[in-house]
Amino acid sequence: MPSGKTAQMTKEKLLELLSTISDPEIPVVSIIDLGILRTVVQMDDQWIITITPTYSGCPAMNMIEAQIKALLDQELGDAYEVRTTLHPAWTTDWMSEDGKRKLKEYGIAPPEASPHQHKLFGAPVLPQCPHCESKNTERISEYGSTACKAMYRCIDCREPFDYFKCH
Ligand SMILES: [Zn+2]
Repeated sequence: MPSGKTAQMTKEKLLELLSTISDPEIPVVSIIDLGILRTVVQMDDQWIITITPTYSGCPAMNMIEAQIKALLDQELGDAYEVRTTLHPAWTTDWMSEDGKRKLKEYGIAPPEASPHQHKLFGAPVLPQCPHCESKNTERISEYGSTACKAMYRCIDCREPFDYFKCH
């Protein structure tokens, strides 16, 4: 029997609710901006929410799933299911332009290109400094504040910054 809560819920409202959930490591970007949220579909009297981690083994994913559940428990009771899918793997192409802009404003260099493009051009693309927009940057460490980011430094303005790694 469809519950009243499910009947009242629309996809639009659900997306609006989910847009309030952000990456715990990067509070300025929502899971929709990041492309983590893949699909929201209604099947019978259940909503199926499918997410794809940005980085397998990224500890933030468990937190994101917990946040989705905390939110939807209130809104939908048990009339929903969160599914995690690893295929196709998340790529930085799924990140919205809005999301990339917000990352940059937050001081994290957004991904430059998809891994496919990296292979095409050979050499890896150096990220642009989010502070002064210089392309004159160097990598300090493979890992930044989290495994999903690398640490770079701008040679021009000398500011260190995190770079959201391409996958
Ligand atoms: Zn700079």
